[in-house]
Amino acid sequence: MRGYLYGMADDALATYRARRDPEASGEPGGSEEIDARGSQPDGRSGTRFVVQRHEASSLHYDFRLEVGGVLKSWAVPKGPSLDPQDKRLATQTEDHPLDYADFEGEIPEGYGAGTVVVWDVGGYRNLTEHRGQAVPVADALDRGHVKVELDGNKLHGAFALTRTRMGGRAQWLLVKVDDAEADRRHDPVRADPESVLSGRTNAELRTGGGG
Ligand code: MN
Repeated sequence: MRGYLYGMADDALATYRARRDPEASGEPGGSEEIDARGSQPDGRSGTRFVVQRHEASSLHYDFRLEVGGVLKSWAVPKGPSLDPQDKRLATQTEDHPLDYADFEGEIPEGYGAGTVVVWDVGGYRNLTEHRGQAVPVADALDRGHVKVELDGNKLHGAFALTRTRMGGRAQWLLVKVDDAEADRRHDPVRADPESVLSGRTNAELRTGGGG
């Protein structure tokens, strides 16, 4: 089982590795995708989510869900909203290694050059159902609709991801489910830009840019 998962993650991360020179980028190389957090005692895949605020050529929020030994990933230009009426474009990006969930710092050059802070992190629970039956999260992603309950520092309650366009860079919409945690007035993207791990902002991580 463990070897099988290694193999799966290796294949899934080929695109991630092809885009990066770990020596130059300073990002995790993904050589240890399966760590203690990657497989739960009951054999299910891990259940972490992370949102990274990434100031690159354009600002976006990388929304990632731990599924099957990798971080399934979407780039959300406007970041998540707590208002159920907001539909936030989420462009699917390459799977990332699990150790990327802790990464913050400066990517000095190459793909994604800029700064990354861990904007939110926590556990998630899969709530996806189809005709009253629970749908495993990997199947839900294949089908193009997943509902998860987030237990983070800034994000709480249920969010839905729905695919609207297939393709190499599939497009999804990230929408807050209208539950007790929905909030039309509070915008955490605006109010709380800093890292939940270090309290730092993207600007404070910039070393090469002179500010
Ligand atoms: Mn990014």
